[in-house]
Amino acid sequence: MDILIIEDEKEIAELIRQTLERESFTCYVANNGTDGLNMFYQKQPDLILLDIMLPGLDGLEVCTRIRQKPGTKDPYILMLTARGEEIDRIIGLSTGADDYLVKPFSPRELVARVRAVLRRSLRQNTPASQQHKTRHFVIDLDQHTATRKLPDQDEPEELDLTTLEFNLLATLVSYRGRVWSRTQLIDHLWGNDFFGDERVVDTHIRRLRKKIEPDPANPIFVKTVVGVGYKFEDDN
Ligand code: CA
Repeated sequence: MDILIIEDEKEIAELIRQTLERESFTCYVANNGTDGLNMFYQKQPDLILLDIMLPGLDGLEVCTRIRQKPGTKDPYILMLTARGEEIDRIIGLSTGADDYLVKPFSPRELVARVRAVLRRSLRQNTPASQQHKTRHFVIDLDQHTATRKLPDQDEPEELDLTTLEFNLLATLVSYRGRVWSRTQLIDHLWGNDFFGDERVVDTHIRRLRKKIEPDPANPIFVKTVVGVGYKFEDDN
């Protein structure tokens, strides 16, 4: 598990790095938002520890940009905040942060929080059953692959999904026809300690549709149930 630390206070950044390297995590450090964003695209870490008050691009902006344009991985983002009032901004702006940690924190708190995130990602990857097949899709939970074969395709095509998109699709497909509310999807994908705005679900649904729907503007697989949420359909 690779961790990117974006923190302008160099002593704090160094302390975090040492603490996490003792726990055998691979760490990268950036001291401002712009470098942090560049390093994110280069290194594709699993988790980002992101300070809010940064020179130049602040942490909230960095978080928003990563969520708008994730790389091959959709990382977990743990915000580091110094002041209580910033917590309201993390919530209010629906930046897509997964959790936050208030400074000053002890090395022990830091490690506990990082491990909690790690457990969550492992849980997402642990399947209840191994494969879901529908008319056009095969979701393989062991291999973590999703393939789709549309009527005009000769061969199944492997879909290029982020971990979160894959888990979202697997969840929807696992209970075909079931209508999921945003809250239920959040509970299922992020667990009880999700922190943020439930509209984040709509963003991920939109991205998923772009990748799996023949016409994302008129979805035939991931359907919106007005006033409730979403469901997956792939009937004969
Ligand atoms: Ca700072």
